[in-house]
Amino acid sequence: MKYLTAALTISFASLLFADHHTEQTTKKLYADTPVIPGSTYTVHDTTRPQPRKVESTGAVTISAPSDALVLFDGTDTKAWNGDWRVEEGILIASPGALTTKEHFRDCQIHLEFRVPAGREIMGQKGGNSGIFIMGKYEIQVGESHTNVTYPDGQAGAVYGQTPPLVNPATPQGEWQSYDIIFKAPVSKDGKVVTPAEVTVLFNGVAVQAGFRIQGPTKHKTTTSYPENHPEKGPIFLQWHKDPIEYRNIWVRPLGKYDQ
Ligand code: MG
Repeated sequence: MKYLTAALTISFASLLFADHHTEQTTKKLYADTPVIPGSTYTVHDTTRPQPRKVESTGAVTISAPSDALVLFDGTDTKAWNGDWRVEEGILIASPGALTTKEHFRDCQIHLEFRVPAGREIMGQKGGNSGIFIMGKYEIQVGESHTNVTYPDGQAGAVYGQTPPLVNPATPQGEWQSYDIIFKAPVSKDGKVVTPAEVTVLFNGVAVQAGFRIQGPTKHKTTTSYPENHPEKGPIFLQWHKDPIEYRNIWVRPLGKYDQ
């Protein structure tokens, strides 16, 4: 009887959490994706370990330093091309990407985001956006407090390349923050000789620490650098059919030492 009760409890729990764990099955969501170079896991591997959960206090709000270019301060989208709504000081993801008019290379970026409360989230659906640096490299924006997806596609991941080191996400409906230090790839004779590098603090917690980006973000496949990589590129925010909210976005181009 004891065993029967336990078995019933487990199957009830599986039913209850079936939605959250649809992607988190023993079967891989994408069965035929290639192995990511430098790793033993395939692209979007659902069997990859889920990053350890870390309790954080949520968004770390940092006002724009005096030398920052303010991209969004609650008023308008004049720093951007694209047509996203602004309501009550909040920028809301809307059809089409939102792309900065200015282009950047090495830079520090701050942004705050919120996945609206009450939205149904399932894996990559319902709470998805992203910040693309140089228009090519996505740091995933999503709901990762309770929602489970493939680790290289959760919030704070370099999408399709590496999961975050840990998972400091706070509940859906709360503001969260990214502070990103990005170093652009270096080219010589039209070929990338030094890959891009990214460090990300998610709610003040390091989730990427000098990760060497393998190439432009791709879905379901590995990536590499194309020839003639541009010197600079825009930042764009991804429209993935979910009205993710943003506030307090700024960028500081990084110079060289002794300049
Ligand atoms: Mg995304």
